[in-house]
Amino acid sequence: MTIVADKFSPNTTSDIAAGWWEPHLDPETPDELTVKWSIQTYSFLLALWRGEFIQEVEEIKEDLLKGLSMTSGLFVDDDISPCKPAWSEQVLSYTEIKEPKQLTKLGFENSGFKS
Ligand SMILES: Cc1cc2nc3c(=O)[nH]c(=O)nc-3n(C[C@H](O)[C@H](O)[C@H](O)COP(=O)(O)OP(=O)(O)OC[C@H]3O[C@@H](n4cnc5c(N)ncnc54)[C@H](O)[C@@H]3O)c2cc1C
Repeated sequence: MTIVADKFSPNTTSDIAAGWWEPHLDPETPDELTVKWSIQTYSFLLALWRGEFIQEVEEIKEDLLKGLSMTSGLFVDDDISPCKPAWSEQVLSYTEIKEPKQLTKLGFENSGFKS
């Protein structure tokens, strides 16, 4: 493989951007493709995080692991339409907040957010 670029690390977007995993739906791309590609990435990262053998990256696995961690996240919105996205069944854990008091515990009691 030959990589052609005018700038290399540490001067690319990838060098400075955070790497939070979440499928972003692009209106130009069918949702099923976005989900398929996103889950492929998720499965790769999960296997890496679990220390599974991945032939393609075995030589640089230790370096990759330095920048990888599994963490939980919370998405809060007053629009409930994004709830239960197509990928929710395919990740380790997806939970919806059902009780307003759960939001209160998280400090959203005066923000107008609804569950
Ligand atoms: C602040 C910020 C936060 C982000 N957070 C997240 C996040 O949490 N999760 C997430 O998934 N994504 C996030 N992103 C988006 C993500 O960082 C990018 O989608 C990703 O880094 C793009 O990778 P890339 O390899 O395609 O592009 P780049 O890392 O930008 O690399 C592009 C390469 O192409 C070269 N190049 C470009 N044009 C030419 C040309 N005309 N001729 C020769 N070479 C060229 C550049 O020099 C560079 O080497 C974030 C982005 C930003 C800016």
